[in-house]
Amino acid sequence: MAVRVEDLIDLKDVRRVRGKQSGNIMPQDSFHQVELLAKELGFHEVHFMEASDIVTARWIILKCLYGCAKYNTSWCCPPATPDVQMTRDILSEYELALLLVNENMNEQFYRNSVASRRIQIKQWKSTVALERKLFLMGYYKAFGLPADTCALCKECAYPKQCKFPNEKRPTLEGCGIDVFQTLKKLGLSTGLVRKVEDCFYSYSLILLA
Ligand code: SF4
Repeated sequence: MAVRVEDLIDLKDVRRVRGKQSGNIMPQDSFHQVELLAKELGFHEVHFMEASDIVTARWIILKCLYGCAKYNTSWCCPPATPDVQMTRDILSEYELALLLVNENMNEQFYRNSVASRRIQIKQWKSTVALERKLFLMGYYKAFGLPADTCALCKECAYPKQCKFPNEKRPTLEGCGIDVFQTLKKLGLSTGLVRKVEDCFYSYSLILLA
């Protein structure tokens, strides 16, 4: 039986944002096409948003500098990533972005475990793959910002040359994007996971057009 787009996506959220879009950024049919592609790559939710709704903040670098073992150890984390001012400048060159959400269950999510790495790699590869598909659709500015950090190698080659430069992207947190405030602006839940057996969410952005 043929799969209908209506069965795969929640159009409610898209309509809310679509109402604010100037229709010339993306024809309506393309909204469906992009959502379908994202779902095929395994994303659970897709939200179209105005790039101006992406919130940046300087305090995020504190979380990277103090308390995160990845600082200065990965090509996808500070100080190798664009700083918050550069991120703001770049965001000002976009009108439309996609927020991609994955729901995950992993009782070891806070550990550097095989299961955690598998989830990270899946989200990373899906984000980069969707970015490529969007580029080929004509969205030549498409650029993915996955969450967390790159886990394609067990140990990042940084500061030596990246082993998979085509897959290298800055993480959205590493660019100074405040994920909590961005979700709030979209009216999405920002619930914290307090128990290891709870479902947790991971987020990617794709700057689109
Ligand atoms: S692909 Fe490997 S070397 Fe390149 S950023 Fe990712 S983990 Fe580091």
